[in-house]
Amino acid sequence: MSRYTGPACRLCRREGTKLFLKGERCLTGKCAIDRRGTAPGQHGAARKKIEEYGMQLREKQKAKRYYGVQETQFKNYYEKADRKEGMTGENLLSTLERRLDNVVYRMGMAESRRDARQLVTHAHFRLNGKKVNVPSIIVKVGDVISIREESKSSEKIKGLIEAMESKLTPKWLEVDKTAATAKVIAIPAKEDIDFPIEESLIVELYSK
Ligand code: SF4
Repeated sequence: MSRYTGPACRLCRREGTKLFLKGERCLTGKCAIDRRGTAPGQHGAARKKIEEYGMQLREKQKAKRYYGVQETQFKNYYEKADRKEGMTGENLLSTLERRLDNVVYRMGMAESRRDARQLVTHAHFRLNGKKVNVPSIIVKVGDVISIREESKSSEKIKGLIEAMESKLTPKWLEVDKTAATAKVIAIPAKEDIDFPIEESLIVELYSK
């Protein structure tokens, strides 16, 4: 299945919640959810009570869209999370949170996960000193993410580094805002996810 390239706000309206896909705009009065929270389409406002399956499906879609992951890849993450020790739902969230594009966003180097994915794809980062351009890499404890020296001369990157100063970063990342580096110091737990998600509904959906 190809990546969705339509309007980002439509995805939020479909899920009925802010997915923060457009950076700064999501925090302003221009946000489509704040202005008009109904689902898109002619009958969006009249959508009927969602049944159990619908709720599970919507929660999966919400997580998938929030992290910008495609269907097959999301299912693969779920299957790996299920094979691991511990709670499947929490394993799944921890894996999604440790995607390289999400880490770049969470260290404060991008306005949105979409922007972070593009920065990674354009090879602006190093992982443990090696050039990387794959947003789906799952980082582990001890990994260090840094900007390539060659990229630091770009005006865009300079602006992003400056903007890091005002960003909050999660406690599982040790971020050096001057050097623009982040070290993974823990596996993110459920309480570290900055998004209301009921992962148990996703597990129920895939367990059918
Ligand atoms: Fe979603 Fe951001 Fe658009 Fe609001 S502005 S609907 S949070 S993408």
